[in-house]
Amino acid sequence: MTDCIFCKIANKEIQSNIVYEDHKVIAFKDLNPQSPVHILVIPKEHIESTNYINEDNSHLIGHIFVVINKLAKDLGIHQEGYRIVNNCGENGGQTVSHIHFHLLAGRQLLWPPG
Ligand code: 5GP
Ligand code: ZN
Repeated sequence: MTDCIFCKIANKEIQSNIVYEDHKVIAFKDLNPQSPVHILVIPKEHIESTNYINEDNSHLIGHIFVVINKLAKDLGIHQEGYRIVNNCGENGGQTVSHIHFHLLAGRQLLWPPG
């Protein structure tokens, strides 16, 4: 997708603070962090939202969770805990139409979300 900011981040056309990358996914710091640790993990392949996960691309989503597990251990937040958020569509609060998982940690997170 040529006009997608997260595709541009994945292609290094837009600068970001990358914390992990492999051939399937990239993880980078959120521009507007909501907690001391706020990382976005995305597939390099453009998938618009959770609505577009299917049998062919679901391996990428499983891989994202393996990467989050690794990041949590590398960042030392696996014991204290963290939250993984995926916003889908307008009511879900999705503002970038390239599927992404927020990894939030470093403070007590509230529930329920607003
Ligand atoms: P959403 O609201 O779609 O779930 O989350 C989108 C997230 O992307 C927001 O937390 C926002 O701060 C972040 N974001 C938007 N544009 C950029 C950008 O250009 N670079 C980075 N690093 N984060 C961005
Ligand atoms: Zn994209």
